[in-house]
Amino acid sequence: MLINARRYCTQIALFILILMMIPKTVFSQNGDVWTIHLPGNQTTTAPIRTVGDVSCVDALSFADALGVDYHRDALGRYVFSFPDARAIFAPDATFAELNGNVVQLPIAPLKTDSRLFVPGTIWIDYINRYTPGLVALHRSPHALSFNPPTSDLLSLTADPIRSSTDSAHVELLLTRPMSASLALIDSTRLALRIPNADPGDFTFPAYTSDKPEFAWDHQRSQLIIRLPQKLYAARLTGPGDDCRYTLTLAFAEEENGTKWDVQTALAADKRKWNIDTVVIDAGHGGKDPGAVGKSGTYEKDLALATALKVQTEMRKRLPGINVVMTRDDDTFIPLYERTRIANRANGKLFVSIHFNSARDRRAHGLETYFLAPARTERAMEIAKKENEVIQFEEQMHDYPELGDEAFILLSMAQAQFGKESEDLASLVLDGMQTRTQQKSRGVDQAGFYVLMGASMPAILVEGGFISNAKEEKLVRSREYQEKVAESIVDAIEEFVTKYQGDS
Ligand SMILES: [Zn+2]
Repeated sequence: MLINARRYCTQIALFILILMMIPKTVFSQNGDVWTIHLPGNQTTTAPIRTVGDVSCVDALSFADALGVDYHRDALGRYVFSFPDARAIFAPDATFAELNGNVVQLPIAPLKTDSRLFVPGTIWIDYINRYTPGLVALHRSPHALSFNPPTSDLLSLTADPIRSSTDSAHVELLLTRPMSASLALIDSTRLALRIPNADPGDFTFPAYTSDKPEFAWDHQRSQLIIRLPQKLYAARLTGPGDDCRYTLTLAFAEEENGTKWDVQTALAADKRKWNIDTVVIDAGHGGKDPGAVGKSGTYEKDLALATALKVQTEMRKRLPGINVVMTRDDDTFIPLYERTRIANRANGKLFVSIHFNSARDRRAHGLETYFLAPARTERAMEIAKKENEVIQFEEQMHDYPELGDEAFILLSMAQAQFGKESEDLASLVLDGMQTRTQQKSRGVDQAGFYVLMGASMPAILVEGGFISNAKEEKLVRSREYQEKVAESIVDAIEEFVTKYQGDS
């Protein structure tokens, strides 16, 4: 008996010892939850789990209940986007990134099927601080009541715009990241379309003579911004990791001719739109060879040969239309000069002819572009390549900065012809595809300097890849160039039939 009792004690001691040796990351589900009270007597819960001696909560349930956006990034980390704040938790990492600061966690977040358990105190304090709307915390009964903001717009601020100002910012903070796009209404009005936003009872800044005037268009879910000055360009950035959107506005210079001319009477012009002059622009030229093929093909030569064929074909088929060439020999012409030639000639269409190249030698096919903010990285890269020519330009010219981040840039002159440009671009592409039987890579949009100042529908044609050995051989042939040229003329003809005299 005595021996047995002693053995029993030893067993208990051993048991305790084993318990102590088990690592602290043992977790137990204790059935406890946080209760989240939402408006209208709705409740939802977020499970709690004790990991070691740390109480953890499921961050995903909280985010869902509070309408906080989150996604997993390429590293598998959870990125929570609060307005003006960002929290990143990685499963199994003892560090979190809170608003850009690395924070040591008592234990690593634990990922289960549909939950992410993060240390409770840190998470609760964080959401208490950064969730928009009214949050009331009751730590002991694990309850939180949440009144979401009554508006998706949290704040709207604008720089003053005086007659001396040539640029200004408008900042908009939303409750969560939403897709937004910018459209030009006329020379002094912009529409910022935010399809999912509800301004609720948001109070828009009061109108003062040196600030933009804001109004919400409920029907189209857009913010109408009226400016005290004529606009030259506008760029929308955001949302970044917070829910802030910044609108950068540039204003037209009234008399100074250093920037591109901004035609302001375009609306009136458009009504009696008579397509009597077409501008054909052979890309590159002179000291700028453009892309160079493996067997020594210069893009500038192909572009010129094709452009001249367009000219010949136009004279034959559309003799009533005046064709203006930006170059008809191997000369260098700066990009800004090309659109200036087009505007001076009072051109009604602008077609810039190019041939493509890519690092990937397999890339092949046809593309057309119109001027609008690039939506894809690839489109942006093409624009970058075609814009590189400015390094050859001796005279300093004030090109707007094209960031490599997603951006929206509206050229005042081009924005009015977005629809027509896109239409012409797709007509040319379809025609080329049919005539050449080469692969169509689609119509895309990007920020090409050469198209930027044109006060007319303007497109850029990439007639094939000279970086692809097979296609290089093809694009050098006269027959191929003729097919491209004919497709361009077909498209112009169709365009004229469609738009001539349109109001
Ligand atoms: Zn080119």
